[in-house]
Order: sequence, then C-alpha cells, then structure tokens
Amino acid sequence: MTAENLKGRFAPSPTGRMHLGNMATALLSWLSAKSRGGRWLLRIEDLDPQRSRLEYAQLIEDDLQWLGLDWDEGGIDGRGSAGPYMQSQRGDIYAEYLGRLIESGDVYPCSCRRKDLLSTQAPHLADGRVVYSGRCRPAPTPPYNVSRNDFDARAARLYVAPGVIDYTDGVFGPQSVDLARECGDFILRRADGAWAYQLAVVADDALMGVTEVTRGCDLLLSAAQQIYLMRRFGWQPPQYYHVPLVCNESGQRLCKRDRALDMEHLRRRFSAAQLLGELACICGLQLTPDATSLPALLSNFSWSSVPARSSIITAL
Ligand code: GLU
Repeated sequence: MTAENLKGRFAPSPTGRMHLGNMATALLSWLSAKSRGGRWLLRIEDLDPQRSRLEYAQLIEDDLQWLGLDWDEGGIDGRGSAGPYMQSQRGDIYAEYLGRLIESGDVYPCSCRRKDLLSTQAPHLADGRVVYSGRCRPAPTPPYNVSRNDFDARAARLYVAPGVIDYTDGVFGPQSVDLARECGDFILRRADGAWAYQLAVVADDALMGVTEVTRGCDLLLSAAQQIYLMRRFGWQPPQYYHVPLVCNESGQRLCKRDRALDMEHLRRRFSAAQLLGELACICGLQLTPDATSLPALLSNFSWSSVPARSSIITAL
C-alpha cells in the first residue's frame, strides 16, 4: 500500500453526542491513516431516520475538530474532491448494487418479522444473535428467480454460501468465520425500505476507496459479512482494525445515552491536549495520561501498542 492510495475512514452514526469510546476509535483511525501519509475521510452513517439527527452530525464534526482530527474528504458539506458523505443521501447507489445482486439471483424476499426469527428453532448464539433459519428461502440454493417488484413491503435477504471467511484483523489477528453457520443469510434492505448497514457500508467503503477500517470490536463479525459481500461484488476488502470498547468503572460499555463521559462533559473537564493524553493512555499508546499533541502521537504510533482485548475499563 502506497501513501497515495491509503485511505482510512471514521463512520459514526449521528444518534447522540460522541463519548470517550467513539473518540478513542476516531483517534486510532486518524493516527493509523495519517502516520503513513494516507487520507482520512468522515462518513455520517445516518441510515436510521428515527434515531439520526443532523444536529448530532454537526456536533460530531465540532468534536473532531476540537481535538484536531481533521478530515480530507466527506462530512456533512463535503470536503475535497468528493462528498458530502451522508448515507441518507446515497439511497440510489445502494439500490443499484442491490439490483445487481437481485439480477444475479442471490437475493430473495423475506417476510420474517423479528418475533418470527426469535421463535424459530434457529440456533441462538451466546451473544443473543439469531442465525437465520432459511424460512423464506424459495429453494435451498440460488439462483432465485425473483424480480425487483417481489420486494415490495418485504425485506431483501442475501443467500450466504457455505464456506469459511478467513481474514486477519489488524488488532485481533487471524479470524476464521463460518458465515452460513454463525450468521446465515442476512438482510440488505428492510421491509420498510430502510437500507441495511451491511450493504451501505460495503458499497460506501468500496466506492470511496477506503483501504482501512477502524471501528469498535463489537463489529468483528460484521467484517466477515462485509468481506463476503465485497467479494460478491468483486471488490477488494479493506484492512480491518477492530479496537477494544471503552467501558465505565462498572464494566459497562459506554453508550451515547450515558452522558458522564460524552464530549460535552469531557470538553468541560479537559483541554484538547489533556484529553489526547487520556485517550492515548486508554488506547495503549502511552503509559500515563500526560497531556500530549497529535504530532507527538503521530511520530510514535504503532498498532502493536493497541491491546487485543474486547474492552478497556476507564476510571475517568
Ligand atoms: N456507524 C457505526 C457506528 O457508529 C460504525 C460502522 C463502521 O464503522 O463500520 O457504530
């Protein structure tokens, strides 16, 4: 990978004010791309119309800039040669790529509702996920002879072929996922017409030229789904870096509803240099939370310092 085509991205959902964990992910993503001379883009993942708000997207931009994490492409208004990068404005692109899969016969209409899925005999995995039972599959294997109209008021579900997806995560190392067994056929567009995260992310990462993805390790299994989809389209998957989730003192993962460690509060307590020091310490980039600067962090950055743990507890 040469510096000219290395491109990282940060892809937050504007469903609340960012918290310490979101900022840790943003910092690692920025450092990874910038320490090797790459570009960094910001994509607002506002697919969920009920929960996404423009004012949160504006606060995301403001918080990133306050810490000095500037982007080369994307954001709400667009920056650089391309953009804006707002998923709510990209439905036509997702429709085109879904159409290609429908034409290739790999997608079928699904009328299962959540309660149907939960009540079937499908295996429930330890983390509560349900493996799709195949209830709506028109036949055990594709091609499925369906037209675009068959998807009115029904979800579009992608057939997952048997086989193992192998890839190496930049933090968690080699991964081997039997997608058909661990996840099953998955949704690309919901019955209400909303685009599924997997399709939108894959199309966006490929079309935006993203070569590395940094995000929370709760999305580790999603990487296998995304690699599967990337390969279906003939795209080269990016390098994934899944990072530990930041948890509060009681071991609970931070969420945007907890206000104590959100950026509104953190900006009152810390200067940008102090918060950088705290974040660097949380991410394993320095031993103590001494105030620091982006140039100092850039010169020492290495992914090998970031621990391959599912969570990191902070007492902040
Ligand atoms: N939009 C997702 C989030 O905010 C992240 C998705 C991704 O990075 O692939 O949790």
